[in-house]
Amino acid sequence: MKLSIIIPIYNEAESLPKLAERLRHVAARIQSEKGFSVDFIFIDDGSSDDSAACLKTLDFAGHSARLLSFSRNFGKEAALSAGIDAAKDADIMIMMDADLQHPPELVIDLLDKWEEENVDCVYFYKERRHEAEGFLKTAFAKGFYWVINRRARFRITENAGDYRLITRRFADALISLPETERFMKGLYGWVGFEQCGIPLTPPPREHGRTNFNFVQLLMMSFDAITSFTTTPLRLMALFGMAIAGLSTLYGVYIILERLFVGQEESGLASTLTLIAFFGGLQMIYLGLVGEYIGKAVLEAKRRPGYILAENRILQPEADYTSS
Ligand code: UDP
Ligand code: MG
Repeated sequence: MKLSIIIPIYNEAESLPKLAERLRHVAARIQSEKGFSVDFIFIDDGSSDDSAACLKTLDFAGHSARLLSFSRNFGKEAALSAGIDAAKDADIMIMMDADLQHPPELVIDLLDKWEEENVDCVYFYKERRHEAEGFLKTAFAKGFYWVINRRARFRITENAGDYRLITRRFADALISLPETERFMKGLYGWVGFEQCGIPLTPPPREHGRTNFNFVQLLMMSFDAITSFTTTPLRLMALFGMAIAGLSTLYGVYIILERLFVGQEESGLASTLTLIAFFGGLQMIYLGLVGEYIGKAVLEAKRRPGYILAENRILQPEADYTSS
């Protein structure tokens, strides 16, 4: 069995030496306890610090290691895809963050769970999210999962992270998806198969800070929603129908009032407010439709999801036959 550990890196030079040290221990344990061969695939996502230089100096204790460098920053989702694409001969793959928020030792837990349950994807999910992240972020996360999972045939698992194990056939399914803009959490759900989770409370970041602030997460959620479901379009259409219906009724009421009661309706302020309100509503709807069209245009270009500047072997595969 061959296990590839895939690690996206964006400005993580400070964490890398510690990460490598812990990875060496884990890899040794996996090899002795499970008999798997372990290799590492690092993806340098256009880091502006010396992450790549640092990687080249690290010791992997004989486990083969490879560094893919992007020509610029393409984002974590692209980096994960590149890693999965590169792990061509792996039987299982594990993705983890480089900032030690995904403790490398837990790879063993992923493998144990995988052997126990025999599923195609094992992930860690965040337990008791709101204590760590505050009310607002939790509320938004809930709303996000509600919209995206509404009446879909597949589910995006709530609070599941990117620390995962996937099997060869799961990876092949992911590779077969042609889209350029890849929201991995969504794709994991979309491809299906049996999956199971392990609860985890991620430790705080030791160096640097998160690459995704609240506004960026909000934008990403919007992006994910518009790439995975057309529910917002439907909701807007339903809302439009309700408004149209109500205003028709109101129109009839005004005519009848004029005919039978003889009263003239007046009110500039309310008219102006309504015009502004519906103007705004139409702009929101147009923006939403535009978002979907924009997505289609981007995909229609069929550009690759990432460009490799370098594909370098950091540590060649050990030659077991000679020892
Ligand atoms: N990352 C990346 N490209 C980016 C942003 C982040 O490859 O454009 C990597 C980063 O180096 C880390 C992982 O993705 O290994 C998670 O990033 P981060 O810790 O900032 O996210 P969070 O833990 O806050 O979700
Ligand atoms: Mg992190």
